[in-house]
Amino acid sequence: MLFIDNVAAMAKKYLASLDDFPVFPGKSALESLSRLDVPLQEEPVDAADVLFLLNEIGSPATVRSTGGRYFGFVIGGSLPASMGAKWLATVWDQNGGLTVTSPIASALESITGKWLLELFGLPKESGFGFVTGDTMANFTALAAARHALLLKAGWDVEAKGLFNSPEIDVIVGGEVHVSVLKALSMLGLGRERISRIPVDGQGRIIPAKVSVTDRPTIICTQAGNVNTGSFDDTGEICGMRGANTWVHVDAAFGLWALASRQKRNLVEGIGLADSWATDAHKWLNVPYDSGIVFVRDRPALYAAMSASAAAYLPDDASREPMHNVPEISREARGVPVWAALKSLGIKGLEAMIDRNCRQAEQFAAALTEAGFTVLNEVMLNQVLVQFGDAAHTQQVIRAIQEEGVCWCGGTVWQGKPAMRISVSGWRTTDEDVRRSIVSILRHANA
Ligand SMILES: *Cc1c(COP(=O)(O)O)cnc(C)c1O
Repeated sequence: MLFIDNVAAMAKKYLASLDDFPVFPGKSALESLSRLDVPLQEEPVDAADVLFLLNEIGSPATVRSTGGRYFGFVIGGSLPASMGAKWLATVWDQNGGLTVTSPIASALESITGKWLLELFGLPKESGFGFVTGDTMANFTALAAARHALLLKAGWDVEAKGLFNSPEIDVIVGGEVHVSVLKALSMLGLGRERISRIPVDGQGRIIPAKVSVTDRPTIICTQAGNVNTGSFDDTGEICGMRGANTWVHVDAAFGLWALASRQKRNLVEGIGLADSWATDAHKWLNVPYDSGIVFVRDRPALYAAMSASAAAYLPDDASREPMHNVPEISREARGVPVWAALKSLGIKGLEAMIDRNCRQAEQFAAALTEAGFTVLNEVMLNQVLVQFGDAAHTQQVIRAIQEEGVCWCGGTVWQGKPAMRISVSGWRTTDEDVRRSIVSILRHANA
C-alpha cells in the first residue's frame, strides 16, 4: 500500500468515529499522551511508523469538534470539499506568498476574495488578505487603519514608527473580544488607552454613548457577540464618523449572517465600515486555520502590509498574496476557502447558516420549556442558559461534559454564570440536537 493510502485509511476511520462519544477525550486517552514525551531518538523512523504512532495516540486524544455534537466556543467543522482541498494543497506544498511560487494559490485567492466581496455586498474595490484567523484579520485591518489615519496627519508610520507620531484615539464596545485588544496591543495602539462604550443587555454598543471628534480615531464594532450572537449597529455608528474616523468591524462569525436572507437584517449597514475581519474556520466550516480580512482602502492595506515599501500600487491583475497580509511564506490559504464556497454554492451556504440558527432556536425552546432560563435573545446561533444558581450551573456543565454525548462550555454573561451553546457545524443534524437536548436535560434535572 502506498504511504498516502495508509494516511487515507486512518482519516477514514477517524471520520467514521465522529458520531461516537465522548466528544472530549477520556482520561486514558489523555494519559497516553505521556507516551509521546520521550527524548528525540538518534536514528530515523520510517514514515509509516511515525504515522501509526500519531494515529494510535493522537486520534483518541482529539476533541471531536468537527463532529455534529460539539457546541463549545464558536468552532465549526470542516466541510468535505474543504478538508480534501486542504489535504491536496498540502501534498502540493505550495508557497502561497507569491504568484511565481504558486500560480494556483494566487489565482484562487483572487477569485475567492472577489466571490466573498460580492457575496457579502462589500465595496468591490476593497483589498483582502487570507490570514490564520480573525485575530490576524483584526491585526491586518487595524494596521491599514493606522497607516491611513496617520498618513492623513502627515506621518508615515511604516517608515517612522510610532515614537513622536500623532495620536490615534481608539473606541471599542464594552463587549469587545480580546482578539481586538491583542491586535491593538501588537500595533502599539495599546489595550488600556482605549475608550469602552457601554453596551445593552445583549452586549450591543449603545450608539448614543459614542462621541466622535475630528481627531484620528478608530472605532471597533462587533458583528456577532460570542455569548449572545448580537450585533453592534455598525451602520448607525458609521453615520457618526468624524473627519478622521476609521470604522473596523470584528465579524468573526457574524459576517456570515449576510449569506442568509432571513438574518441579513441583523447586519444592515455593515458595508458602510472601512474594514472587516472574519473567520472561514468558524461558520464557513473550513479546517483550521483560516481568517480573512477586507479593507475598503486597498492602497492602505497594501502600504501597511507590503514588504518592499514600494511607492506604487500594483493593479488588481498583479495582486500578490504576500502584500496583503503579515506573512511572506505561507500555505496556499485560499484553496480550502475556495473549495468550501464552490461545494456549497450560494444556496448551500445560506441553508447551512439558516439550519444552525434554527437548531439554536430548537435548543432554546426545549430548555425554556423545561423551565430553565435562556439569558439571551436567540437571534443567531448562540444560546446562553442558566441551570438555577451558579454552583448548580457549573455542576450541570461538568456532568454534560463528562458524559460526552455533546460538549458545551461555561461562560459568564453580564455577571451571570451560564452554559453557552454555539451551533456552527455543517455536520450537526436535528437528531444530534435532539440527542444533545436529552443529555443536557438529564443532567440539568438530576
Ligand atoms: C473567534 C472570535 C475572535 C478570535 O478569532 P480567532 O480566529 O480565534 O483568532 C475574535 N472575535 C470574535 C467576535 C470571535 O468570535
